[in-house]
Amino acid sequence: MTLPFSWIRPEPQGIYIAPADIWVDPSRAVPRALVTHGHADHARGGHGITIATPATLAIMELRYQTRAGAVTAAYGETISLGGGVTATFLPAGHVLGSAQILLEHAGERVIITGDYKRAPDPTATPFAVTPCDILITEATFGLPVFTHPPIAEEIGKLLAAREANPDSCILVGAYALGKAQRVIAELRAAGHSDTIWLHGAMEAMCRLYEDHGVALGDLRLVSDAPSKEAMRGAIVMAPPSALGDSWSRRLPDPITAMASGWMRVRARARQRGVELPLIISDHADWNELTRTITEVNPQETWITHGREEALLRWCELNQRRARALALVGYEDEDD
Ligand SMILES: [Zn+2]
Ligand SMILES: [Zn+2]
Repeated sequence: MTLPFSWIRPEPQGIYIAPADIWVDPSRAVPRALVTHGHADHARGGHGITIATPATLAIMELRYQTRAGAVTAAYGETISLGGGVTATFLPAGHVLGSAQILLEHAGERVIITGDYKRAPDPTATPFAVTPCDILITEATFGLPVFTHPPIAEEIGKLLAAREANPDSCILVGAYALGKAQRVIAELRAAGHSDTIWLHGAMEAMCRLYEDHGVALGDLRLVSDAPSKEAMRGAIVMAPPSALGDSWSRRLPDPITAMASGWMRVRARARQRGVELPLIISDHADWNELTRTITEVNPQETWITHGREEALLRWCELNQRRARALALVGYEDEDD
């Protein structure tokens, strides 16, 4: 007689599914892996076999230059993993191709959310609320202080700053996978149709998004700008690491913005020299985390990947069984 859910084991380096001998988002190379999405802390290179959505596999191929051992799982498709375990990939609303993974074995259902959010995003398929026995949820922003405002407000701030400073450019720091494309798509939705200038490190991922049907409008590389003058009054996107370095000297009087959930914390914005903090996150905020647990209504919630304590306490106060997992190796490439 095996114990309920003993087939799924949280280990420091990832979640291990013993009967199928397969890992979910392992932090080191393994023979067989399920990968929720393309951010580097979840999608390590070098696995023997990688099972993921078509967009996630395309992102991994772009980053690791190999497609060896790739097995495609479309949203809603159920795949047999062996050992009586199946996996179904469900949209997570985090970035292009991001998935929650529903695992089923012996009538027991476990969902691993990966990273997710509930706020609308024109570049990602919305999170699917799906019943399960155990919900393994991320908790990157698992503190009540973290509430993300509607993105339209933050995009409005960005456009207002541009309007008010026609002789400058607005340099927006945003992660190259997901955040950059979401900000661009939201700018387009808000009616901004001018050229958006890109740091070279953003180009390939923007093209990949466009190849997957996400329209981003007129994008050009800063290195192709005819002059500094051509970028006055423009919006420029760059990875956060480029904000303070010599690359930005080619821009006309840049005003530094940064799109991140951490911009809620003023000290973080100041530390990074950010003049225009934009609170834009691809992770669930506190309200989205608690709402998701309530809506999915699992028998038990396992909390990982962030600030587990407050959410654990919230579960206790709401008579929900919960435990914190200690997984290692997840950083915030993708805040
Ligand atoms: Zn993550
Ligand atoms: Zn992520």
